[in-house]
Amino acid sequence: MGRARAYVGLGANIGDATNTLAAAIHTLAALPGVRLAGVSRLYATAPVGVTDQPEFRNAVVALDVPSGPDPVTGALALLVALKGLERAFGRREGQRWGPRALDLDLLVFGRHAIRAERPRAARSDDPARAAAQWLTVPHTSAHERLFVLAPLADLAPGLRPPGWGETVAAARDRRMSIEDPAAVRPVARWDRVAGAWEPQDPAVLVGDGGPVARDGSPVAVYLELPGDEEAALIHGALLDVGLPPDCEILELGCGAGRVTAPLSALGHRVVAVDQSEAMLAEVRRRVPHAALVLGDVESLNLGRRVAAVVLGSHLVNAEASLGTAFLATCRRHLAPDGAVLIQAYDPDMDWAAATRRRTVNGAVAVTLLRADRTGDRLVGSVLYETRGGRWVQEFVATLLDENSLRAALDLTALRFERWIDRPAGWLVARPA
Ligand code: ATP
Ligand code: CA
Ligand code: CA
Repeated sequence: MGRARAYVGLGANIGDATNTLAAAIHTLAALPGVRLAGVSRLYATAPVGVTDQPEFRNAVVALDVPSGPDPVTGALALLVALKGLERAFGRREGQRWGPRALDLDLLVFGRHAIRAERPRAARSDDPARAAAQWLTVPHTSAHERLFVLAPLADLAPGLRPPGWGETVAAARDRRMSIEDPAAVRPVARWDRVAGAWEPQDPAVLVGDGGPVARDGSPVAVYLELPGDEEAALIHGALLDVGLPPDCEILELGCGAGRVTAPLSALGHRVVAVDQSEAMLAEVRRRVPHAALVLGDVESLNLGRRVAAVVLGSHLVNAEASLGTAFLATCRRHLAPDGAVLIQAYDPDMDWAAATRRRTVNGAVAVTLLRADRTGDRLVGSVLYETRGGRWVQEFVATLLDENSLRAALDLTALRFERWIDRPAGWLVARPA
């Protein structure tokens, strides 16, 4: 008898789901004739369908199994074993999509598309469920579920299950753009030697952590935040003040190149400054032509002037005198007919209303967890969630009302010209 590669999805949300999945994996590996060929990461996932129930743990295993005298028989034999295992782990037939001790779905069985009536042993006794007494492979919903696609893509990103028309990785990426990526988070890796889940620090981004900036922020979060809209806004504002469409830009605090990359794609030569080597390494990778400067923005002196300076990321709202020092750096490098684009917190921002609201930006969900205001001082924290992990950034800001903003600009011989996008905080200033 030949062998077939099968992928089985595991899910649980009752009791100690993590341990249940580990025990289920051991039991699957010990089934006669079965060899465990791989285990995905363990994911914590928000319930789908019936949402008022505990979080799930999901994973996928790759099994080498006997392919049977024919694929239908082979697949049904595996399904019978899976159902037996569900019962052994205390699964009771109940509400579909409801809480369960263990759910095992046969996702893929070799290259076979199977639709078969199920044998007695695997049947539900409930006549109301008789219509569901079929085995369909590939599993009918796998293609539409991020909680299946993410772990399956860990094991078989390039697999094209029959009938899908795309690879597992492509399907996962498509679902990632539809579903909340933070609803499916890897929380552990399978340690093959120990045969156990090894938890991953939720603050460490997986997809392998990657470099971390000096402030402890994972570069990967910034890589996933889109910057196209901001770059388009900046580009348009520079055209509006009469600068050429390919004018040189000095970008202060470029981070991982979120805005640098699209600005450069729009035709600008960008000189990108950041204090983090890890961040600049990413900019180098994404924008090979950018000029990079490693250093502190407040003390920067390149000894020359450029048409446009960009000070984003609310750096102007930095604590105490640092904001003014940043503005002085802008002025120091600004050509006489140049323009500075500054991103400042909107003076009218309602911080209480903004708290706890989650907005999805590209593949990152951003939530302002708290924002405590005392006078013009704001202390807050922001949660970033990606499919790779969660990261909380604490921040302190000096809030500037419109008069303080103008005064800070005056102090550095800059003149407030206009807001270009007040809610987003972008404004234009020119030499005074
Ligand atoms: P879903 O099928 O949407 O994931 P579920 O796992 O909660 O929902 P179950 O109650 O476990 O649903 O199973 C519903 C029916 O689907 C069962 O009778 C099961 O045998 C049948 N079935 C059909 N194809 C498969 C498959 N590929 N893997 C597992 N069960 C299947
Ligand atoms: Ca299922
Ligand atoms: Ca099932």
